[in-house]
Amino acid sequence: MSLAALGLALSLAAGAARLAVTPDLARHFPIYIGGFGQNRIAAGVHDELWARCLALDDGWGPVVLCGVDSIGLFLEDVEAIRTQAKRRAPQIRYLLVAALHDHQAPDTMGLWGPAPLVSGIHDGYQAWLLERVALAAAQAVQSLRPARLQLAAVHRPELHSFLHDTRPPVVHDAELIVLRAQDRRGRTIATLVNWANHPEALGSRNTLLTADYPASLYSRLEERLGGVAVFLNGAVGGMQSPLGATVTDPHTGKPAEKDTFRFAQIIGHRVADLAADAVSKAPPVAIDRIEAREREVFVPLANKLYRAASAAGVFKGRKPLHTNGQDLKTLVGLIRFRNQNQPVLEMALVPGELYPELSVGGITRYPGADFPDAPEEPAIKKAMSAPFRMLVGLANDEIGYILPRAEWDEQPPWLQNAPKRWYGEVNSVGSEAAPVIVKQVVDLIRGVE
Ligand SMILES: [Zn+2]
Repeated sequence: MSLAALGLALSLAAGAARLAVTPDLARHFPIYIGGFGQNRIAAGVHDELWARCLALDDGWGPVVLCGVDSIGLFLEDVEAIRTQAKRRAPQIRYLLVAALHDHQAPDTMGLWGPAPLVSGIHDGYQAWLLERVALAAAQAVQSLRPARLQLAAVHRPELHSFLHDTRPPVVHDAELIVLRAQDRRGRTIATLVNWANHPEALGSRNTLLTADYPASLYSRLEERLGGVAVFLNGAVGGMQSPLGATVTDPHTGKPAEKDTFRFAQIIGHRVADLAADAVSKAPPVAIDRIEAREREVFVPLANKLYRAASAAGVFKGRKPLHTNGQDLKTLVGLIRFRNQNQPVLEMALVPGELYPELSVGGITRYPGADFPDAPEEPAIKKAMSAPFRMLVGLANDEIGYILPRAEWDEQPPWLQNAPKRWYGEVNSVGSEAAPVIVKQVVDLIRGVE
């Protein structure tokens, strides 16, 4: 057989799995809910939390993409998931685990316990969660079957209307990217959606565990297309949130009441409908190679609160400092789908909450910035060359906000002469995170060693 014929014979395969990762509140108690303030104890379950995985194999071993309804998973947790998944499915070539940053899920980072510097992590739940994510990844691999793919991108003003950016400049990375895998009989195996918005539509007072707006995104996508819906969140930093958005209820024509399940549902259903409409009409795309690369990156840890939390055991041994005592190890990555050597889809993997200026551009210099002369980081999606471009936030780690250094503002006067400090820096490892991380991601995209 010629090489060309062999290439044609090796078709793409896809598999998918979803497993609930909702705590059993009788066994896992108390569960502190992550995000917003401390000591928010889960009083019940509204809908399931999930680990949802899509496995794709170009013949060189499965690349598995998992989204998890969790506030954040640290690198050490992802490493444990990878080890367990490979024990179950040794053929896994690459495993991405991205928490969706769900603010209505258990505290898996430790920051939202009963009091400051008291960890909110429930050890029993945490261990079980990691096993379940690994199992979902392995099950996706075990269900691999010949597949064809479709890709679609949706840009619409409506997608911006679900986002409220509370910090200047107002920049959204609101593009919706959809990847569907179908089997040879046209049945959907999975639909993967990449969009950027904080899953916190239920607000800070809710005490019922929920996947937030992704719950309705999953159910509507699966109802319309079948298969498994997988969501990967994007550049959610600075602040990409539904909290301040005015969302019209199509049933009443009036704004939906804030902090309600209906508010979350409208967003999830609408995003799912836009994704399903677009991908249903999309032509099949040929993919003959999936390349997955990642790099270790060391980011200077400047945030004193972070160090205090670490010293107090809030992270329960996760997030150790590098042996130099200064740096935090994290990962960046790139997954590139090609056909006949041409990039078709690129996915940048970023280990935290990237400000969208660093994804789509728009860094703005304001009086009051701490580093007025800091060079501008390049925009990650603009550095890509594929027609379809995803940015995955909280990919394989969660290091907090990643802000353009030129917009960093920890010292008064505040940006735009604001009367008080802007929100963001307090939840960032430091001003040097963006230059280091963006450079490494862009080097991966450009093939710089
Ligand atoms: Zn956040």
